[in-house]
Amino acid sequence: MIRINENYLKLQASYLFSDIAKRVQAFQAGNPETEVIKLGIGDVTMPLPDACIAAFHSAVDEMADQKTFRGYGPEQGFDFLREKIAENDFKSRGADINADEIFVSDGAKCDTGNFQEIFATDAVVAIPDPVYPVYLDTNVMAGRTGEHNDGRFQGMVYLDSTRENNFIPELPSVPVDLIYLCFPNNPTGASVTKEELARWVDYAKKENALILFDAAYESFIRDESLPKSIYEIEGAREVAIEFRSFSKTAGFTGTRCAYTVVPKNCRAFDASGNPVMLHELWSRRHTTKFNGVSYPVQRAAEAVYSEQGSAEIKGLSDYYLINAALILEKMSAAGFECSGGKNSPYIWIWGNMDSWKFFDLLMQKAGVVVTPGAGFGKCGEGYIRISAFNSFENVQKAMERIAQALK
Ligand SMILES: *Cc1c(COP(=O)(O)O)cnc(C)c1O
Repeated sequence: MIRINENYLKLQASYLFSDIAKRVQAFQAGNPETEVIKLGIGDVTMPLPDACIAAFHSAVDEMADQKTFRGYGPEQGFDFLREKIAENDFKSRGADINADEIFVSDGAKCDTGNFQEIFATDAVVAIPDPVYPVYLDTNVMAGRTGEHNDGRFQGMVYLDSTRENNFIPELPSVPVDLIYLCFPNNPTGASVTKEELARWVDYAKKENALILFDAAYESFIRDESLPKSIYEIEGAREVAIEFRSFSKTAGFTGTRCAYTVVPKNCRAFDASGNPVMLHELWSRRHTTKFNGVSYPVQRAAEAVYSEQGSAEIKGLSDYYLINAALILEKMSAAGFECSGGKNSPYIWIWGNMDSWKFFDLLMQKAGVVVTPGAGFGKCGEGYIRISAFNSFENVQKAMERIAQALK
């Protein structure tokens, strides 16, 4: 009898985006003249930079010619890309990361989801709340939690991110082995200072724990004092893995390219307490289960680091940051307590009311669709997330309508 992995039955169906779609549809049916503006999505709207498109095209042409055709590439990614990443994203910022510590992949979703595979099933896991749902669900699938009760899984350590702590969670009050962190954060838009991040690195060292640091939104950081990489913190190489993606930084959500950094001296432990280097383990896992990102896509990603490419991707994040600044200004002026929106494309807004009620209010009165905070975890209740991923014209229109409606 073929039996299933019963852990899958513990997963909570995410009705968030289908519920939003249903409510929007019902509203639209009753108000056919209203043009609904969507500020709920976590997907980019601007096309790929010209530099990436040119490199993409010419790599496709190489594949058409016998002399330049390529079959399987290295699973970890081509050296031309790994070297540019190490130089531009790390060494130039004083973070000591080498090309052979970079694993190129087709997405930070897969990497953040897959990485837990190389740890013990009974590892104690700490996850921020609210959070990107992938970290939690993949640990549920792996059997690291008990049942789901009252909005939370037994056995999981939740790191509450609230207005009381400025959305930077306290260190866990019970010992944990594996810690997920994401800064600038989705959904709260919070960013972390070097001092705050150093506390987590120190904790991981002292407790023999490991940090999985998701830096998918690093390109939105404009405050030069903030760390873009956890490896800007001393000692982080031994205790932290970092995930990066070209999705939000260069518009690659539909093109697919990302990477994970596993430093050569980053460690976990075997059952006897002896250190084991994670680089070898992840390399074994990655080369066994993954066969590389397509050559043209890696050439397109490489172009992000050219002079033209880096100017163009700066232009992309600048564009969304102007939207974010406008949302932050107008929602604050409307009397709401807002956070994020600086160094981040997300604005997290306290409504002091049920998340869905807040959602309905903005849709009914202003025809603007946002994301209810409760969809990201228990601590998201009472909030909404507004995304800056839309055109400036639409953001402007949405903010005018909200101001008008709430006057
Ligand atoms: C969008 C996003 C990613 C990127 O995922 P890709 O699979 O690379 O597109 C990773 N982490 C967070 C928190 C995100 O919001």
